[in-house]
Amino acid sequence: MNNSTFEEIGRALREHQHFAILSHVRPDGDALGSQLALALSLQQLGKNVRVWNEEGMLEKYSFLPRAELLTKPPAIADDVDVAIALDTAIQNRLGTAFAAVGSAKIWINIDHHRSNPSYGDLVIIDPSAPATGEIIFRQIKSQGLPFNHDIVENLYAAISTDTGSFQYPKTSAFTFEIAAELVRAGGLDVGRLSQQLYESYPRRRLELLRELLRTMRFSECNRVASFSLSSKTAAELAALPEDNEGLIDHLRAIRGVIVAVFFEELADGKVRLSMRSKDEAIDVCAICQKFGGGGHTLAAGARIRGSLAEVEEKVLEEIRAVLKRHS
Ligand code: 5GP
Ligand code: MN
Repeated sequence: MNNSTFEEIGRALREHQHFAILSHVRPDGDALGSQLALALSLQQLGKNVRVWNEEGMLEKYSFLPRAELLTKPPAIADDVDVAIALDTAIQNRLGTAFAAVGSAKIWINIDHHRSNPSYGDLVIIDPSAPATGEIIFRQIKSQGLPFNHDIVENLYAAISTDTGSFQYPKTSAFTFEIAAELVRAGGLDVGRLSQQLYESYPRRRLELLRELLRTMRFSECNRVASFSLSSKTAAELAALPEDNEGLIDHLRAIRGVIVAVFFEELADGKVRLSMRSKDEAIDVCAICQKFGGGGHTLAAGARIRGSLAEVEEKVLEEIRAVLKRHS
């Protein structure tokens, strides 16, 4: 991996005027928080910044400071000086946000996914970072870029969500130091922000969980747990795609479970796969890559063509083979 330096990226940020900041389809708190944080810093530098995601701002993250900056991409492509992809393991996961960039003199790619192939002209991929927000913090701080309370809240939301509230293994002393610095610098109300992040779900999210638990299955001597969501059930509950973020954690939290899998039937004849591992030796990124996906060693995903039943069988068989090799 041949990373650019924060200095090189800092120079590109200062030298140009028109920016588009993008993140992946099915965005999470890290993607949206990182986008807003960097956008706000650049705006304060007097730059012209577009902030696009295929899905626009999600309802559940719309409390983030200056959330209104984040919009769906326009139908007609726009030319910019610099396009920046954040938290996006592979360029095609930018979805329609990618198509909205007509031309860009420079592409910057900042991410923490190990499977990222380093697309772009200026690239920082740091798989040791638990969140892209942590890299954005370093980019801003190391280059003396503008920093304010709204940036603090967005970065804290990014880091808190992608570390599972400072629980996942990549959470380091450095992560806590950054969090402490954010709390100190911004006068951050951690309790209020955490309540907005974790205690403000719509009731239908729990109703969705109830339906998922009805489909819960165990295999490989209870080491693999999975559940699935059909489009029919999603429609009956009027569930939004964002409602299921994090529900897989209920499977991972079961004692003895090493691999957790969530299968979600999509409208386009594909099934979205979300996978978690509790054991570094069981690399779910490698499993998902076999199906054209990617991610991190302990959290990965893919989209696979086929029916729910076909995909479940194929994927559970692959997991079985991997577990056999390691037992
Ligand atoms: P989640 O299960 O939360 O959707 O995703 C887990 C991780 O895997 C995330 O970091 C996400 O970016 C990555 N990921 C999820 N789906 C895909 C996919 O279809 N392709 C790739 N390359 N990465 C994915
Ligand atoms: Mn992330």
